[in-house]
Amino acid sequence: MKLKTISQKATDDKRVLVRVDYNVPLKETNGSWQVANDSKLRATLPTIKLLLEAKAKQIILCSHLGRPKGKPAEKLSLKPVAKKLGELLKENNLTQVVDFAPSPSEISPESKLLLLENLRFDPGEKKNDPVFAKKLSGLADIYVNDAFSASHRQHASIVGIAKYLPSFAGLTLVEELQSLQRLLESPKRPFVVMVGGAKISDKLSAIEHLSKIADTILVGGGIANNFLKAEHFEVYHSYLEDAPADLNKEGMDFVKLADKLLDENRQQSTMLGNYPLPKILYPLDVLVASSPESKSSKTLNLLRTEQKKLGEESMFLDIGPKTIALYSEVIKKAKTVFWNGPMGVFENPEFENGTKKLAKVLSESKAFSVLGGGDTIRAIEHFSLRDDFSYVSNAGGAALEFLSGKMLPGLEPLTTSN
Ligand code: ADP
Ligand code: MG
Repeated sequence: MKLKTISQKATDDKRVLVRVDYNVPLKETNGSWQVANDSKLRATLPTIKLLLEAKAKQIILCSHLGRPKGKPAEKLSLKPVAKKLGELLKENNLTQVVDFAPSPSEISPESKLLLLENLRFDPGEKKNDPVFAKKLSGLADIYVNDAFSASHRQHASIVGIAKYLPSFAGLTLVEELQSLQRLLESPKRPFVVMVGGAKISDKLSAIEHLSKIADTILVGGGIANNFLKAEHFEVYHSYLEDAPADLNKEGMDFVKLADKLLDENRQQSTMLGNYPLPKILYPLDVLVASSPESKSSKTLNLLRTEQKKLGEESMFLDIGPKTIALYSEVIKKAKTVFWNGPMGVFENPEFENGTKKLAKVLSESKAFSVLGGGDTIRAIEHFSLRDDFSYVSNAGGAALEFLSGKMLPGLEPLTTSN
């Protein structure tokens, strides 16, 4: 897939509407809202820089923030984001005032660079209402999508607007796509996928698709419990999506689906030194306690049956030392790694080891490494390792959909055949 990338030539003297992802965490300090993490803002600087240098007549940035349900909500206003963006531009010698437009009909023609209020304050955004898409398109001469993370959505600012304006991909979206494409198309081998976290419903189709491409899949975190249960291990009170019935809203049984995935890959193995390893690996041992807040825990070796007599209240909250050692060896040999989802409840120091140690091993490896997932990013930031990977994807669910092998609706209008 090749994208029509934004260029200086295309934007000269044009009014440009740029869809960005400024869905950032805000925090209230002394009665005013402030941006708590500006990495998504920083990610858009290359595109803004290009547009400023190209002498675009007007740059209109737009984004959603949170879930305002189609009506204004003060704590979901993008106003503090405009202020923060102004500070970042100044820091990067791109001195330019960032104006703020409370609605699409309140844009001053004098504004060179501005941020529109939260798109989702209008119910037309999520409904992909053509009237709202038309209104947005009327503001500009060309449209740029620099929000890969929203490109799996059929929303007015992603899909609708592209029907009315010449459409281009922003620089950050292109970088995101290239990094993810590198995983799917001839990755350097061994290619290792490490998945954890809680939400198997979000991740299973990506794991399925990646299992056809990767050499090894390392499973940890809460989702490992689905795999353990599929293999008839007792998981006690552990997190299991939609336990006890194991059925989610759509009536999908994720233990059965994990079982199917294990079965499909049972015949496949990769060599670790002289040892053949199954393609899909799940924990050999886990840390057990009665709650995610516990201050102490014990190690349960899952391969030793006599240890399997735990109290009802037991939960598996991190991968154990043997699993960390095995997964570390696999990661050290990898040439390509994709990681999504923490290996344990890293928010509690008692259960941070799996995530922390494997993050460290990966950060020291020369492999091409791509990380994604909101909590995975929080984890590596917490361990001060954010800058030590090849690519950190902000695209969350959109990245997972792309890695499931699906075409994202928002990318379609940006593609070119030549
Ligand atoms: P990401 O945002 O990186 O995609 P998820 O949202 O799927 O990850 O899951 C992150 C959460 O999973 C973390 O808050 C972490 O505490 C939790 N988690 C990890 N391992 C376990 C476990 N064994 N049991 C319960 N929760 C877990
Ligand atoms: Mg998450």
